[in-house]
Amino acid sequence: MYIFRPQAIYFEKNIENYTLGKELLAKYKDIPKIEIENHNNIEEMRNKSNKEFLNMKRNLIIGVRKTHKFVENHKVSDYLVPYTSSGCIASCMYCYLVCNYNKCAYMRLFVNREEMLNKIIKTAQESEKSLTFEIGSNSDLILENTITNNLVWTIENFGKTNGGKLTFPTKFAYVNDLLSLKHNRKIIIRMSVNPEYIINNVEFGTSKLKDRIDAINKLADADYEIGILIAPVIFVENWENLYNDLIIYLFDNLNKKAKEKIFFEIIFMTYSYVHNAINKEAFPNSINIYDKDKMTVRGRGKYMYKSDYKKYGEEFFKEKLKKFFPNNKIWYIV
Ligand code: SF4
Repeated sequence: MYIFRPQAIYFEKNIENYTLGKELLAKYKDIPKIEIENHNNIEEMRNKSNKEFLNMKRNLIIGVRKTHKFVENHKVSDYLVPYTSSGCIASCMYCYLVCNYNKCAYMRLFVNREEMLNKIIKTAQESEKSLTFEIGSNSDLILENTITNNLVWTIENFGKTNGGKLTFPTKFAYVNDLLSLKHNRKIIIRMSVNPEYIINNVEFGTSKLKDRIDAINKLADADYEIGILIAPVIFVENWENLYNDLIIYLFDNLNKKAKEKIFFEIIFMTYSYVHNAINKEAFPNSINIYDKDKMTVRGRGKYMYKSDYKKYGEEFFKEKLKKFFPNNKIWYIV
């Protein structure tokens, strides 16, 4: 199991009133601590330069989540739900969290997990239809679990209740602690994959492709509902060969149980002016993933692939998946 050792802990004083807050302070008793007023506004961090992006991610911010607003969603889930963390200690060059938090996309942990899970359970039980809640849209919960054990706690507690499902995506293979839990098929885990070349050159600090596939096979054997996200698709040079090989790799390496039940989601990369500014300074030697000939403006400072490229990409993935995974559903291609 991966062990993250933060260089400093920034914490709100009131985390001492929560079980998880006390546990984390004890766990990191030897790490330097800085008390803060509000996890959303740490002046020292705001004033740092983009060059310090990676270094900033070596800290942990711990606070209490104040906003609990569910946002309606119409993909795999019915609601996007703010949960136990936001931000991340890995550093994918396209990370969507950078759009929300800019260079302050470091990991923040929220210790009031009982309050958050209880709201989900109550909403699920009051609904006439079975609802699915996306709890991983602000961070990677498998990675967070290596620090807090929150996912184990969540699955154990949610698994006992009636109604509703939880879902989250991940790029990490650290699933062993989840395999023996009584999840009652109420958890849908979606493994995000990309060609090894992209993982090595763009998704810094995430698990290797082989390890991600081993993890999804183990989750299938443990009877979890599972999906595969091919995301984000990046039209680097030679992308057709890279993604063709990726689909063949999935076909060759997913086990029988996984192949029987996986579904697919495919998402083309979006990018932004902020990403470009941070990446240039934080990763000066990395490959350039912003291709201005293939991308177009999608809103202020945001870019997406031009519709011709997306259309071609869509056909490409539909054809390849039909050939190798004819019985597996594609939820959407966007
Ligand atoms: S693993 Fe996910 S949350 Fe973490 S940096 Fe990569 S895209 Fe962002």
